[in-house]
Amino acid sequence: MQIRPYRLSKLELGDFTLAGYSVAGEESVILAPELDCAFDIGKCPREALTVNHVLLSHGHMDHAAGLPYYFAQRDFQGVACGTVLAPAALVGPLERLMVAWGAVEGHIPPHRFVGMRPGEEYEIRRNLLARAFATRHLPGSLGFAVVDVRQKLKEEFLGLSGPQIVELKNKGVEITHRLEVPLVAFLGDTGPANYSDLPFVANARALLIECTFFDEEHYSRARAGKHLHVRDLPGVLEGMDCERIIIIHVTRRTNMGAARKLLRKALPKDILDRITFLMSRRHIEEE
Ligand SMILES: [Zn+2]
Ligand SMILES: [Zn+2]
Repeated sequence: MQIRPYRLSKLELGDFTLAGYSVAGEESVILAPELDCAFDIGKCPREALTVNHVLLSHGHMDHAAGLPYYFAQRDFQGVACGTVLAPAALVGPLERLMVAWGAVEGHIPPHRFVGMRPGEEYEIRRNLLARAFATRHLPGSLGFAVVDVRQKLKEEFLGLSGPQIVELKNKGVEITHRLEVPLVAFLGDTGPANYSDLPFVANARALLIECTFFDEEHYSRARAGKHLHVRDLPGVLEGMDCERIIIIHVTRRTNMGAARKLLRKALPKDILDRITFLMSRRHIEEE
């Protein structure tokens, strides 16, 4: 028996970090500790207990299995109940799951599900929101963008002194405008779509994009399971201005060295230079 150490892979992106484990059909969880959220929960690795929000893209077991454990462990550790943003249609079944699990364990831990529909927003904390958008995977499946919202002084007032600004404010003049800085866009599992039409995706600092299949003979599998194949990437990534493009959810059937070769063939250099894989530490180290 070979023991595989279970370790998350980590990526530093300046003022925030992404850490995760994402292998198709096995487990997918990406944590953004500074943004106080996880993109899907996977089997709920210990590190995921520290974030207060889970942004759930869809109900497949490899993305959602850890939810009852997340609530139960936080309760056990005396941490306040977390919040799970989930596709609206899943809230009922998830509530029933908690009740069923409660019957197994003898106790239902505090839990909170918030149903989300495309276009809806949820405030993670002041000036940081999660915005849901539709994806092409399961009915109701969602992607999420985490957006930093800043109030900026309007250009015409930039030269004014503090007291002058206060005076304008007292007169009821609107002195600031709203500036949105999308930090992360997460596509969940998805077939091809024009995500770059969504400005909060195209301009996100980091794009988390699944690419489940790389081998040519897996193309029909990608279509059947509503996933991305490396052949889809040039189209889906066209118009994306993201600083970092992070590929997740690669199948274990694919050798990473071969995947990188196929990626180099498929994409222009300006996109390749921005791409990183995020799977597991071991996976990256093994290649
Ligand atoms: Zn998946
Ligand atoms: Zn899925």
